[in-house]
Amino acid sequence: MSKKTIRDIDWHGKCAFVRADFNVPFVHGSGVISDDTRIQEAIPTIEYLLENGASIILCSHLGRPNGRIDEGLRLKPIAERLATLLDKEIRYTSDEENQTLNISSIRQGEVVLLENIRFSPQEETNDGPFAMSLAKMADVFVNDAFGTAHRAHASTEGIAHHVTAVAGLLMEKELSFLGAVLNDPKRPLAALFGGAKVSDKIQILDRLLGHADNILVGGGMAATFLHAQGANVGASLLENEMVDFCVNLLNKAHEVGTHIHVPVDVLTADKIEANVETTIANVTDIPASSMILDIGPATANNYVRILSSMNTVVWNGPMGVFEVPPFDTGTKKIANHLSMSHAVTVIGGGSTSEAVTHLGLETCMSHVSTGGGASLEFLEGKVLPGVAALDDI
Ligand code: ADP
Ligand code: MG
Repeated sequence: MSKKTIRDIDWHGKCAFVRADFNVPFVHGSGVISDDTRIQEAIPTIEYLLENGASIILCSHLGRPNGRIDEGLRLKPIAERLATLLDKEIRYTSDEENQTLNISSIRQGEVVLLENIRFSPQEETNDGPFAMSLAKMADVFVNDAFGTAHRAHASTEGIAHHVTAVAGLLMEKELSFLGAVLNDPKRPLAALFGGAKVSDKIQILDRLLGHADNILVGGGMAATFLHAQGANVGASLLENEMVDFCVNLLNKAHEVGTHIHVPVDVLTADKIEANVETTIANVTDIPASSMILDIGPATANNYVRILSSMNTVVWNGPMGVFEVPPFDTGTKKIANHLSMSHAVTVIGGGSTSEAVTHLGLETCMSHVSTGGGASLEFLEGKVLPGVAALDDI
C-alpha cells in the first residue's frame, strides 16, 4: 500500500485522533446493538495504539442526524460496547466538548469517545475551520473508517490536510484485499454480481469487464441480462433503459476475454412472501405472471462449478431476495461453497456481507468488507477521498 499506516509512527506519548466507523445497526426502536462487527473490527487499531504508548480520541458518526442533535443517535451504547470489548474505561464526552477538548487533558493510555460527529453541521460540509479544530485535538490523524472513506467530510478528509495522517489496521486490511482484486489478483478471477438492479452496478461491471476472467450474474439484475438475450422474463423487475448496456457488455465480453455467465434457470413466484408457491423455470419458459426471485438449482450448480476452478472470487450482490426464504437458496449455496473454497474470497457490499454474516460464514471468507458503498466505489476504480488524503509513504 502506498499510504502510511499506524505502524510508521512512534506513538510513545502521542495522542491519536482515530476516525472509526461505528455506524452499527440497532434492534429496531431500542438502544440494543444488533451487530457489533464494525466495533470489533476497530479493536486491533485501538489495541495497537495503546500497546505503543498513545492516548486516543475516537470519533464516529451514527445514522443521519443531519447536523442536529438527535437523542436517539448518541454514541453512549457504542461507548459501553467498546468498554466491554476493550475491558477498559472509555471517557465518553458530550457534544459541547467536541471542539474544545484539549490534548493536554488526556492522559497517556486514556481512550475518549466523542459524541456523534454528524451532530455538527460542519462535518458533512467539510468545513475548513472545523476540520482544523479536530486536527488540533491530536498529534496524528488515524483513518480507520473504511466504510466512510468515500465521503469527503471534515473528520474523514478535511482533517488530514492539517496534521500527519495515516491508515489504521482495518483501513489497511480493506485496501489490501480490495486493492489486490483490482491490481494483482491470483488468477483466474471471477466476479459474482447480484442485487436488485443493473443500474447500481454499471460502473463496477465496466471496470471488471476485460479484467475478470469470469463474470457471473444473479439477483434481480439477471432479468435485464436475460431480456437482452431475448428471453421473456414475465413480471420480473426489468430495467428497459439498461437493456442496451447489457447487450453491449455481452458483445464486448467476447472481444476482451471475459466470460459472462447468466442463469439457465431461475426460482420464480408471483409475490415476494415467505413460503409462497414457487416455480423453478428454465429461462426460456418463465411464467408470464411470475418474477425472478432467485437463481435456480442448475444455475447454482453451474456457478459453483465455475467458482471451483478460480483462485480469486469477488462477490457483490446477493443471488436472490435473500431476506425472504426460500429465495435465499442460491445465496446460501454460493456462500457455503465460497466458505470452503481454496480461493481468495472477497465479499463487498452491505447486503452481501449481511447475508454471509447471517449464515455465520464471515470468518470462513478471506475478507468481508465493512464498507458497503465504499467497497463498491473502490471496486469501480474510484479514488476514495478519505484514502487519497492520507500521507504517502
Ligand atoms: P449489496 O448491498 O451487497 O451491494 P445490493 O444493494 O445491490 O447488494 O442488492 C441487495 C438487494 O437486492 C437485496 O435487498 C435483495 O433482496 C435484492 N435482490 C436480490 N435479488 C433480487 C431479485 N431477484 N429481485 C428483486 N430484488 C432482489
Ligand atoms: Mg446495498
